[in-house]
Amino acid sequence: MARETLVVIGAVAAGMSAASRARRRNPQLRIIVLEKGHDVSYGACGLPFYISGEVSRADDLVVYTADYFREKRDIEIRLGHEAISIEPGRKLVHALHGASQPLEIPYDKLVIATGAAPAAGIPGTNPPGVFACNDLANAIKLREFLDSRQPRRGVVVGAGYIGIEIADALAKRKIEVSVISRGERVLAGFEPDIQSQMEKAMEARGVRLKSNSTVTQITASASGEALQIHHEKGSESAEVVILATGIEPRTSLAESANIRLGPTRAIAVDDRMQTSVNGIYAAGDCAETRHLVSGKPVYFPLGTTANKMGRVAGDNAGGGNARFAGIVGTLAAKAFDLEVARTGLSTAEARAAGFHPSSTTIRSFSHAKYLGGKPLTATLLWDKSSGLLLGFQVAGEHGAAQRVDAAAVALHARMRVADLEHLDLGYAPPFAQVWEALLIAASEAIKAEKRL
Ligand SMILES: Cc1cc2nc3c(=O)[nH]c(=O)nc-3n(C[C@H](O)[C@H](O)[C@H](O)COP(=O)(O)OP(=O)(O)OC[C@H]3O[C@@H](n4cnc5c(N)ncnc54)[C@H](O)[C@@H]3O)c2cc1C
Repeated sequence: MARETLVVIGAVAAGMSAASRARRRNPQLRIIVLEKGHDVSYGACGLPFYISGEVSRADDLVVYTADYFREKRDIEIRLGHEAISIEPGRKLVHALHGASQPLEIPYDKLVIATGAAPAAGIPGTNPPGVFACNDLANAIKLREFLDSRQPRRGVVVGAGYIGIEIADALAKRKIEVSVISRGERVLAGFEPDIQSQMEKAMEARGVRLKSNSTVTQITASASGEALQIHHEKGSESAEVVILATGIEPRTSLAESANIRLGPTRAIAVDDRMQTSVNGIYAAGDCAETRHLVSGKPVYFPLGTTANKMGRVAGDNAGGGNARFAGIVGTLAAKAFDLEVARTGLSTAEARAAGFHPSSTTIRSFSHAKYLGGKPLTATLLWDKSSGLLLGFQVAGEHGAAQRVDAAAVALHARMRVADLEHLDLGYAPPFAQVWEALLIAASEAIKAEKRL
């Protein structure tokens, strides 16, 4: 009898998690992974550190090679194969490989893990010297350019966490950096007291922030070496530009198969990662998930989520019954020696979800001051009507990012702020204060509520 076939489209976090999990679940399954590029299973989260030079070789970001998957996990990886459409009625994927005729690849189960593409960039054709840094292939091109041309001035368009990490990478290479952002503040989704910590850290390193200004065009000099970045509030000169203007889920394949998109315009999936078409799963940056605090579908594309969604999709495609309940919106980043992290909802997101949010910001320390503890700024958000914890955000030079993890657990457990104040969190002078930032913030929130 022919082996049942699983086809996975996309070979990075979600796709390779799905293929690997399906293999463990079902040793008999034939597993084919189609990847239009030539890189598999790499840590895109490490790209800024490759740009800065802290990671010296692109290969260091590769978790497992295609040969490893072929030889050790019996997974057929087909590089340079682009899926162009899916026909659920005939259970076929149509794919292109080089100049050959389109291939028809039959499947019994299918996982779509096509990730996301850079959002529509700047109008017009971008001249050489303008890069995206959304995947390994583009990061390699950017790094080669930086190594060979040694530009002195760089512009990053976009001030989300990726834009800021890339700005930091350029600054580490002694490039003068300007960041142009459409929004008023850096790090959209963070609260103002946390945003201002990052803005101060950037300004302290000489980064020029141009906010509230959309880039309208990028032009090049006759030699092509000098770029002019025109934006609504003026123009900047540079020799390299990196576009970090956000991403959009790649959904065209799903749409070709009449698979339903959700309200976020990413692929809608249930908690088994099943799409609206039986036997077709989706995972990672192409799919939406559920926010456990708001209860609503959300597009929150992160590597950590892509791995978990991929694992659940692969388990189910291999015959299991795994579930992924959703996320609480936890994100951490580090740039300009400042760690920032958030979990839960921001004030704006909480309002949009129908809560009545209130917040408090406290100052604390990473650990005992007599051992060099560094200042922390933390903002706690809660719902005035129910007392439910809604979110927690932290910024600080040291030990800030993972401080949101306890709050993330509390959000999963739907705890009220009143339950947080006396949580038994770990303490010793080298890594905490007797009163942890989360506990101080909870205590302040409780006092604020009593005053109301
Ligand atoms: C600079 C940067 C920093 C980041 N930092 C963090 C971080 O610190 N923490 C964190 O959690 N996340 C981070 N992320 C996000 C994280 O990398 C992504 O969420 C993750 O890579 C998503 O994995 P994925 O498998 O869903 O999609 P992708 O990584 O986008 O992979 C999708 C793959 O599908 C392939 N593909 C697409 N269409 C087709 C097709 N039609 N046929 C065949 N193949 C196709 C693509 O070529 C691609 O290789 C960062 C991302 C970037 C770019």
